[in-house]
Amino acid sequence: PLAISLPVESKPGVIDVSQPYAGAKVFEQLPLSQNTKKGLKENKYSHMTAIQRASIPHSLCGRDVLGAAKTGSGKTLAFLIPVIEKLFRLRWSRDDGVGAIIISPTRELAYQIFDELKKIGKYHSLSGGLLIGGRKDVETEKEHVGRLNILVCTPGRLLQHMDETPDFDCTQLQVLVLDEADRILDMGFSGTINAIVAQLNKERQTLLFSATQTRSVQDLARLSLQDPEYLAVHAES
Ligand code: ADP
Ligand code: MG
Repeated sequence: PLAISLPVESKPGVIDVSQPYAGAKVFEQLPLSQNTKKGLKENKYSHMTAIQRASIPHSLCGRDVLGAAKTGSGKTLAFLIPVIEKLFRLRWSRDDGVGAIIISPTRELAYQIFDELKKIGKYHSLSGGLLIGGRKDVETEKEHVGRLNILVCTPGRLLQHMDETPDFDCTQLQVLVLDEADRILDMGFSGTINAIVAQLNKERQTLLFSATQTRSVQDLARLSLQDPEYLAVHAES
């Protein structure tokens, strides 16, 4: 079984009892849109994993979150659900442009996130795009990126668009997700991430997920998150 434990710095009570949805065990108990509930159900997602139970109630309230849980613990849905719900609640539409950016260390992981987004976001009218290196059609991509609502990116390609694409406007960004933050840093992207974060509006919500909580992850958290909830889920061995 999974147990939830607190890192030293964190505030008491991983699950804040003042949160009405704090004890929720199944997605059905959360205040999610019918469109999301339908997408989850269709993909046979009913019970939340530990990191989902611990983090989603906070993320849905708009808080910054640092979530640490080992590989395979369901971190993707822990950020995709709050991202979709935030844009849905704001009635985000095609004309509103980039509302969420999800940064992933590798193309393969970005593909997986994008697949999951398509599955659970199926009943929403939000648009999404995959911005990853190695693709030759950067020029075509440049014509479209500004009109996509949710971007799943690798760090280099995102920064390239921020620097080179004239109508790529992130000033309305609502949510930034840094996924697999430890791997992003291990791969030497910390400079790229700092350059990206420096260009983004400060009013956004930021969700940072990582398999491990290293010193460099904490440094990145300090730079990119505001007053975050620290949620760590450890498997009992
Ligand atoms: P992580 O990012 O923590 O490594 P993933 O988000 O990739 O983990 O999820 C790992 C696997 O668990 C995926 O196959 C995913 O479909 C599945 N999964 C995630 N959340 C749930 C859930 N609530 N119920 C059942 N399976 C889930
Ligand atoms: Mg993951």
